[in-house]
Amino acid sequence: MSFWSLTCIMNKLERTDRKTIGSFELSASDSSVSMTILGSGTSVGVPMIGCECPVCTSSNPKNHRMRTGVWVRNGDRGFLIDTSPELRLQIVRARVKKIDGVLYTHAHADHVLGMDDLRTFCFRQPEPVPLYCEEIVEHALRRMFSYAFSDDDSLHSRPRLRFERIGTDPFSVAGLNVQPIRLIHGRLSILGYRIGNVAFCTDVSTIPEESWPLLQNLDVLVLGAIRHDPHPTHFNVSQAVEVARKLNVRQTYLTHIAHNLEHEETNASLPEGIALAYDGLTIPISLPHTEVLS
Ligand SMILES: [Zn+2]
Ligand SMILES: [Zn+2]
Ligand SMILES: [Zn+2]
Repeated sequence: MSFWSLTCIMNKLERTDRKTIGSFELSASDSSVSMTILGSGTSVGVPMIGCECPVCTSSNPKNHRMRTGVWVRNGDRGFLIDTSPELRLQIVRARVKKIDGVLYTHAHADHVLGMDDLRTFCFRQPEPVPLYCEEIVEHALRRMFSYAFSDDDSLHSRPRLRFERIGTDPFSVAGLNVQPIRLIHGRLSILGYRIGNVAFCTDVSTIPEESWPLLQNLDVLVLGAIRHDPHPTHFNVSQAVEVARKLNVRQTYLTHIAHNLEHEETNASLPEGIALAYDGLTIPISLPHTEVLS
């Protein structure tokens, strides 16, 4: 069964729910649905501590890359994918006031260490923030942030969170249908996510066979590509370009970028329809007609 058939079924199941969510009833071209790149940098960020290379000392803001994450907005609702160590700065810059949840790709430090900054949302939102992730990620988060999940009532200032277990079945958050996509990151099984015509696939070194059908008919692919040289757990630029070509994506943005890639110089060398992402880039999302009309 295709992703869009599944989406259609999910929409039918959710029809009653959808009537209660005004912002869900969007036209396919409504630009109030979008994905903003909060951070486009690799795990150490750019500039990298102690480095004086031309990219790390560049005055071009597009060469300043915070750690990886995105904000998916649906009108006045939305969700984060990952919580980087720079989450507070990213959230302030993107002017996010409230969130419907966080989706995690995997539990590497550069994708989770800003989780405590979710505390601020908890001051304003009555319900715990749902964290959508796989079991292995939940275990890691519980271990890394044990104070946040402790039964000790004397701990006052901590984020209020709850886990929502996901796998590769589609689910709904902030009024949007989300299709998880299995990716391989070195030897680790992780998730990417597709929302409408846009997919976010970072920290990937192999796309397993089962995931290719879920990436068909994309308009925009945000794809991890760390540098030109090969890397054991990430696509390099030429591998990412090959994936974009194979999928025939209209526009691919490379993310999780190391300091080896200067923004303008790299863009000038990339084929048409492929470019480096940068912090603050906002990509409009179109929802399939089945999602809008049914
Ligand atoms: Zn990473
Ligand atoms: Zn550098
Ligand atoms: Zn990683």
